[in-house]
Amino acid sequence: MKVLDSHDRPMRSLRLSVTDRCNLRCQYCMPEENYVWLPRADILHFEEISTLVDVFAGLGVDKVRLTGGEPLARRELPKLVEMLARKPALADLALTTNGILLAAQAGDLKRAGLGRLTVSLDTLDPARFRDLSKRDVHSQVLEGIDAALAVGFQGLKIDTVVMQGVNDDELIALVEFARSKRAEVRFIEYMDVGGATGWSMERVVTRVEMLQRLARHYGKLEPVEEQSSAPAARYRLPDGATFGIISSTTQPFCSTCDRSRVTADGVYYLCLYARQGFDLRGLLRSGASATEIAETIASLWRARADRGAEQRLELRQRSALARPGELRQDPHVEMHTRGG
Ligand code: SAM
Ligand code: SF4
Ligand code: SF4
Repeated sequence: MKVLDSHDRPMRSLRLSVTDRCNLRCQYCMPEENYVWLPRADILHFEEISTLVDVFAGLGVDKVRLTGGEPLARRELPKLVEMLARKPALADLALTTNGILLAAQAGDLKRAGLGRLTVSLDTLDPARFRDLSKRDVHSQVLEGIDAALAVGFQGLKIDTVVMQGVNDDELIALVEFARSKRAEVRFIEYMDVGGATGWSMERVVTRVEMLQRLARHYGKLEPVEEQSSAPAARYRLPDGATFGIISSTTQPFCSTCDRSRVTADGVYYLCLYARQGFDLRGLLRSGASATEIAETIASLWRARADRGAEQRLELRQRSALARPGELRQDPHVEMHTRGG
């Protein structure tokens, strides 16, 4: 069944957070040491996640991305990957990780049937990595990338959040690093999600600025034309290498957004910026049938009018989405709970 929202956007992709916990403390995402964590009893079991994925697939979703928090910190994740990889309705099963636990798990993830892998990496400098993420584990991320290549993951993506005065001098080095790994780097504009991250517009490096800097070094950048609702705009360098830019802050792509999000405790969000979610866990655990759950999700999607990033753009005074008090009251507001 195909379901369209109030702006005629179909439901096609699902971002599934499998845990809100993480082994890094990235400045732009989860800068504090401690948070109000989701209660363990609320975290969906793999069978519950699998049931939800079947329901979403029945409504048109054929792309699923596992995320977190740090998804590889979820125990026995390859088991879940195996359950999802068996579903014929899913054309694309991907995972976004910070890479720290990847060297140990890459082989199991590949054998379990994971299709695509994105590794987040903001810097090639170990000391800068430590400052940015409060953990001294840069070499483990690089080992994780090499392990993923060794077990046969191809077309790896490297995601980099670019911050003014922090890592904006590494654009070219990261393009070259990705090329050396037969990977593609995607530069992400710093977003004002969550609350404790100290976001301000001055810290954002815009897509326009990034393109100017890269063109100064490489020469003419050719936009890659493609029919896709994927968030990254891709560009080709004169020598054929490609990179992407995700300009969620200055040039958002809400008009084609086909993405649903489910948190690790089963709360359904129609937008990264949505204030309210819908509790699918309660529905699942009350014994609702798959048809009932599907009807609920479909009616929420039909009513969907969200275009969060575009609305943020219209604000005159812009700062981080939520205030610390709000975050303590509801951990679902955080980026690491929503899964990025
Ligand atoms: N822990 C995993 C990781 O870092 O890859 C997966 C979850 S993380 C929330 C998903 C993505 O969101 C990462 O690529 C991260 O860089 C990005 N992200 C987090 N906070 C962000 C922000 N404020 N602006 C832009 N991207 C952000
Ligand atoms: Fe953890 Fe990923 Fe957030 Fe960094 S971006 S703190 S690795 S969830
Ligand atoms: Fe989609 Fe919301 Fe992001 Fe816009 S802000 S692209 S509607 S998730």
